[in-house]
Amino acid sequence: METRTLVLPQDESNKILIENVHPAEWKNPESAPMYNLVVIGAGTAGLVTAAGAAGLGAKVALIERHMLGGDCLNVGCVPSKGIIRASRAAYDVRTAEEFGIRYGEAISIDFGKAMERMRRIRAGISAHDSAERFSKELGVDLFFGNAKFTGSDSIDVSGKRLRFKKAALCTGARAAAPPIPGIEETGFLTNENVFWLTELPKRIAVIGGGPIGCELAQAFARMGSEVTILQRGGHVLPREDADAAEIVHKSLVRDGVALRLQAKILGANKKGNDKVVIIEEEGKNVELPIDQILVGVGRAPNVEGLELEKAGITYDQHDGVKVNERLQTSNPRVFAAGDICYPYKFTHTADALARILIANALFMARQSTSALVVPWCTYTDPEVAHVGMYEKDARDKGIDVLTLTVPLSDVDRAVLDGETEGFARVHLKKGGDRILGATIVARHAGEMINEFSLAITAGLGLSAIGRTIHPYPTQAEAIKKLADAYNRMRLTPFLKKVFMAWLKWQRS
Ligand SMILES: Cc1cc2nc3c(=O)[nH]c(=O)nc-3n(C[C@H](O)[C@H](O)[C@H](O)COP(=O)(O)OP(=O)(O)OC[C@H]3O[C@@H](n4cnc5c(N)ncnc54)[C@H](O)[C@@H]3O)c2cc1C
Repeated sequence: METRTLVLPQDESNKILIENVHPAEWKNPESAPMYNLVVIGAGTAGLVTAAGAAGLGAKVALIERHMLGGDCLNVGCVPSKGIIRASRAAYDVRTAEEFGIRYGEAISIDFGKAMERMRRIRAGISAHDSAERFSKELGVDLFFGNAKFTGSDSIDVSGKRLRFKKAALCTGARAAAPPIPGIEETGFLTNENVFWLTELPKRIAVIGGGPIGCELAQAFARMGSEVTILQRGGHVLPREDADAAEIVHKSLVRDGVALRLQAKILGANKKGNDKVVIIEEEGKNVELPIDQILVGVGRAPNVEGLELEKAGITYDQHDGVKVNERLQTSNPRVFAAGDICYPYKFTHTADALARILIANALFMARQSTSALVVPWCTYTDPEVAHVGMYEKDARDKGIDVLTLTVPLSDVDRAVLDGETEGFARVHLKKGGDRILGATIVARHAGEMINEFSLAITAGLGLSAIGRTIHPYPTQAEAIKKLADAYNRMRLTPFLKKVFMAWLKWQRS
């Protein structure tokens, strides 16, 4: 059986983690003669699929080659947000003087302790994804090993053959290797091993200014590293509006991050104890000496080794497994969910797709992914959260858009909190209050965006938000203010004249 369960350091927390997500003494069960559903991959998509299907009475097998919980628990959301929280504490202490709070001369940051806290919390959360819970409580047949299709209705794992009526491919994605000459020999970190660190690297080059790059760059900078982001494009967070990205850019610079935009990376090598990244700037080769290189340049789908051809499943190396909007692959018995097949690679989308998969695969429902309203959030400080369309998406579709923006400097709570850099923005279909999309830049934008997600999902217009009482003072009042701004626009000069005439008559 292949085991890839090395997680460093081998401390008590990581022992608990491993005991939960890949117990050393695990014995695969005997396979049942036939399964309603065989689930391959036990990240969020696979776990939600397996738990949901088993809960509804299906005979389910779950196969995982590495660690239950997949990326989110082990090397993604959970450890990254743990570190971000620690770095935010460091930032709050550093900036406390503004609020009249004084500490000693210099603050000291114990990076090792912050990482220990993260590992302890991750180990605690892992109980929810544990082998014991899935096998004993939920009644799932859990197999550790590499899954391989042997035909259109059968899979091999560690020498055992599993036959299925339906299968769910949930094998996720991994950090894409950057095509940079010399980087393999020089050595680099990805999300797979950056959370193993116990000592703070003094100097880090972060390759890629997307969400993962920006989140970790800011966290390491706030913990005390000298961080340089090397970003190929003209601004960080390329998917977001340029002014939203600009706010994050400024915040990164304030935290001491050096940003090199339009960076052309020529190669990497080692010089003495240093790692060196070579970039081209204004026609010259510039060397950037650092201690660690952290790569966050996109995700590659885990399609290798599954022998998908034997099951007639169409895929490509870039976008992963091809599915229709009901998540069915080119093999009608096999469905897919999560990062392996979906462009929006998030834990919450993996969860949402898993629910659709269960209904469609087991109960012949016809639920569609096209109906999903997908929000996301980048957990920098401030956070950038978005749902629905950007202005450009709407225009590309030929929709007339009305865009309204309220700066956080207009919101009392943001002023009181000293968090005025940001905004709430909504895109409406012109001529009405239908919400097409929204972006929020604020310290807790990820919490605030849910109001828009609910409105879009439930078909509520901006006027409904305007009628909703928001507690004062909260930063979510920015959203209410968007509705107020919309209502003011509806007061046409003619309507205003009518109102004035009426009020004048009342006075007479
Ligand atoms: C640093 C980082 C931070 C992130 N932060 C967030 C965040 O804050 N919020 C958010 O929503 N998303 C975040 N994400 C994205 C999120 O982690 C993923 O979208 C999510 O984990 C996808 O779940 P999944 O089940 O599709 O795939 P995965 O979690 O990748 O799980 C797939 C599983 O399949 C297994 N597998 C693969 N091939 C085989 C095989 N042949 N046989 C058996 N098993 C196999 C793998 O070992 C893995 O356990 C982050 C990602 C990273 C890298």
